[in-house]
Amino acid sequence: MKYTLRFLIPALLLLSNTAFSQQNSDNFCGTRGITKWFEWYCQNRDVLAQDRGNDSTWIYVPMTIQITGTDSGTEHYNLEQAIIAVNNMNQQYIPAKIRFYLMPGDPFRYLDKTSWHDHDWTGGADLIDNNRLPDRLNAFVVKNPAGNCGYSWMDAIVLGKNCSGASNTTWAHEAGHHFSLPHPFFGWEGTTWNYATPAPAEIGGRPVETTDGTNCYNSGDFFCDTRPDYLNYRWSCDQNHESTTVQHDPNGVEFRSDATLFMGYALDACANRFSPEQIMAMRDNIMFDHNEYIQITDPLQEISDGDPVQLVSPIDTAFVQYNNVTFSWNPVPNASLYTVEVALHENNLPRFIWETVYNTTTLTITKNIPNNKLLYWRVRPYSEWDLSKQLAPQQIGVFRTKNYAATNDLERVVLADLSPNPVISGVVAQLHLSADDNMDASLRITDAAGRMCSIETLRIQPGDNLIDIPTDKLASGLYFVTLQNEKGNIIKRLAVTE
Ligand SMILES: [Zn+2]
Repeated sequence: MKYTLRFLIPALLLLSNTAFSQQNSDNFCGTRGITKWFEWYCQNRDVLAQDRGNDSTWIYVPMTIQITGTDSGTEHYNLEQAIIAVNNMNQQYIPAKIRFYLMPGDPFRYLDKTSWHDHDWTGGADLIDNNRLPDRLNAFVVKNPAGNCGYSWMDAIVLGKNCSGASNTTWAHEAGHHFSLPHPFFGWEGTTWNYATPAPAEIGGRPVETTDGTNCYNSGDFFCDTRPDYLNYRWSCDQNHESTTVQHDPNGVEFRSDATLFMGYALDACANRFSPEQIMAMRDNIMFDHNEYIQITDPLQEISDGDPVQLVSPIDTAFVQYNNVTFSWNPVPNASLYTVEVALHENNLPRFIWETVYNTTTLTITKNIPNNKLLYWRVRPYSEWDLSKQLAPQQIGVFRTKNYAATNDLERVVLADLSPNPVISGVVAQLHLSADDNMDASLRITDAAGRMCSIETLRIQPGDNLIDIPTDKLASGLYFVTLQNEKGNIIKRLAVTE
């Protein structure tokens, strides 16, 4: 039988805002309810199973990652972390034979809007409505997804950047919802229950799943190969990968929840699988409800493991201007994304630069690289298809920074920055000095006519020094702030306004 049922499937309709507004903040997942498609699926399992046969082909799902930031363009989730998160999800979905890749030509976007970055449900709806892209899994990474780690809603998944670290299960969980899976504890979301007592026969108008499995296709997550689970909060697991909390089914039978399921609320380290029935439902969901995702049926080109990135410049301890460094490297076959890291030590710590660039083999950096240092850098190659090269061995480039603009030895070893400037009279300005070494110096403030306004002696420490420049005794006008010792001097102009 060929499927003619597609027209029966209503548009993917998740939940009303009313349902969402009932939940409180600090939840792991904000997804509630089941989709219309999943209801249809549950009613048609048998015919679907017949038609499915021994389907074992890989399904490839394209994604675009949209990373929000504040209105001023700060607080972005790091792009390589997004690559790692998708690669991590690819490992978790291997048994399902589902592989995610980034949409060729449109792998990621940045969205700078604070009300999307840190949002309530209204802001989340606004984010998705305004930015959802066709024919792919839309993933938004934000600072605060309405008080949750993430949720699946309005045909998109939204992930909190603090719940999206290496080896998280948030992404696999929300993608599972996107492909129709409910929580194993479906119906218990948002309830409070004394688990030492037997569960009620019904919750939310549906039967409660029992340990003997009698109602397993009509309750819980509607799958029979996942056990009962009523735990609607983040929980830790024991050595057997079960909940430490003992629950009681409606017949009073004791049990512990299975911590291995991505769709439950066990901590990331406990979960490692989808059940076979969950996998069948997800695959059917893609074939029927997200058929537009199926754009390729064969894998694309991988990046060869034997292709470390060849660094071009700077290498061989060459000197560069510390606040204007252009890194360049040779292209790697099939790569389109490159992650550049600059660090103080060969072990990549502490890391000053961690940036991923797209369709280019150069990166110019004008801040955050320290002066007068020997530094190490490396590049990792990725593509929209191949997100796996986090650990591939790479060449390490070594370079030294200096300040070519320095006209004397003091300027070579001390960087000075004065702010705010101009400063309103009465407000304290701050002189930020970044020094290589201990030293003494005089700090002199003179007015435009050369008259001395103040003088003091400073003890400058290696690293960052912050010196207050009070302006309450300075009339509006132009002043010179002069740092001086036997190495030379640094002169900064300071404008004081009314
Ligand atoms: Zn969830």
